[in-house]
Amino acid sequence: MKASPDKLNFNDTEKAFAYKNDIQLKRAHWLFQLMQFGWIVKLGSLVTPLLIKFKFPVKGLIKKTIFSQFVGGEKLSETTPVVKMLQDHDVDVILDYGVEGGEYEDSKYDRETEEFIKVITFAGKQPNAPFISIKVTGLVSSILLNKLNISNPGNGNYPESIWQKIDALESSEKTNWDKLISRVDLICKAAEINGIGVMIDAEESWIQDPIDLIADLMMEKYNKSKFTVFNTIQLYRSDRLSFLKSSIAEAQQLNYKPAYKLVRGAYMEKERKRAIALNYPSPIQINKSQTDEAYNEAINYCYSIESPVCIVIASHNEESTIIAANYGEVDSNKNVEIHFSQLYGMSDNLTFNLAAKGFKVSKYLPFGPVEEVIPYLMRRAQENSSISGQTTRELYLLKKELSRRAN
Ligand SMILES: Cc1cc2nc3c(=O)[nH]c(=O)nc-3n(C[C@H](O)[C@H](O)[C@H](O)COP(=O)(O)OP(=O)(O)OC[C@H]3O[C@@H](n4cnc5c(N)ncnc54)[C@H](O)[C@@H]3O)c2cc1C
Repeated sequence: MKASPDKLNFNDTEKAFAYKNDIQLKRAHWLFQLMQFGWIVKLGSLVTPLLIKFKFPVKGLIKKTIFSQFVGGEKLSETTPVVKMLQDHDVDVILDYGVEGGEYEDSKYDRETEEFIKVITFAGKQPNAPFISIKVTGLVSSILLNKLNISNPGNGNYPESIWQKIDALESSEKTNWDKLISRVDLICKAAEINGIGVMIDAEESWIQDPIDLIADLMMEKYNKSKFTVFNTIQLYRSDRLSFLKSSIAEAQQLNYKPAYKLVRGAYMEKERKRAIALNYPSPIQINKSQTDEAYNEAINYCYSIESPVCIVIASHNEESTIIAANYGEVDSNKNVEIHFSQLYGMSDNLTFNLAAKGFKVSKYLPFGPVEEVIPYLMRRAQENSSISGQTTRELYLLKKELSRRAN
């Protein structure tokens, strides 16, 4: 089907929630209502990790509530019903093995690499799982990544290039860096073989430079003819639009096909707090409208260039989605391949209505043991707490559908 934004209606709740029965719909409504209370979210964010750590019997409750709203299952195999349901609605998935970073033994990072490769093999067998996502902090120590960050906010400015910093590593650290490159390379090679795209998540600014370097190296190696490796651009950072432009220029010069997941960014509070605590200028845009402007400008820029580029509009923002959908429909620039993606459990009104109009759209579907996905769940709860407009929107849509069904 040819994609057509003309009749895109993001208020069509019948389509948006067709996959939920009445009980599931009421449960989602209850959960979003609860998340409206900032103090509950704050308390939950503080207490839940401790309850899990000290083995309080709360896993069952978490699984039935916030986990089932935002996560596909504890194991890869448990995601199958969700993947199948999405397929029935022409929606793809980005499988996300929800491991968060930490300081571990090498063997754990190797096991995670194998796990990612299993996810790729699984994705390769699904008709609707064209991508997986990875977090570099799941594959190496964040201390090492921080040491390699060029601007190293809070630790003083370093004039060297990242390559000089790599050269200056102690021998054990250099070994760990080389191992990281091999791990990511194994993942990207498996992805290439299975015809799957790998999206490298963006993380905190004080570890992002080496992540960008790895993404660039892998794009150069694996994106000669196809879009296999994707970097993530966080437009809430005031330096990222120019980073995107220079990354595209580098790809043009080295003759590979760059691919990007465009996001606003998930760590705003943490970034601002750290900048204040360590007394350096915050890397975050001064307000939301600057972030929005940068995001939309990034879309416009990708459509203005003459070389191939693939972009994933990873956003719940309707305005950005419409801007991109308008480009997607008019074959204005055949060099651009465009996908849309929303997190599983959020903005179903965008996902299912885009799919119904023939756009390539996916749900970002995390899976993993409850204790491993807690940080992801806490981020979702915070994002949906009362200060954000997103909950109001979700609640409005859920209410609208509940009353439509009642009549
Ligand atoms: C498929 C998918 C993949 C993702 N992958 C990543 C990833 O790899 N890394 C990552 O960091 N995030 C990732 N995210 C999360 C994303 O960065 C956003 O946090 C989230 O999607 C909310 O932004 P939005 O575009 O949906 O829309 P909106 O709800 O319109 O925007 C909210 C966002 O705007 C920004 N913002 C809010 N207030 C201000 C302010 N006062 N000043 C400046 N900026 C402000 C923040 O980034 C906030 O999250 C992903 C999201 C999706 C859907």
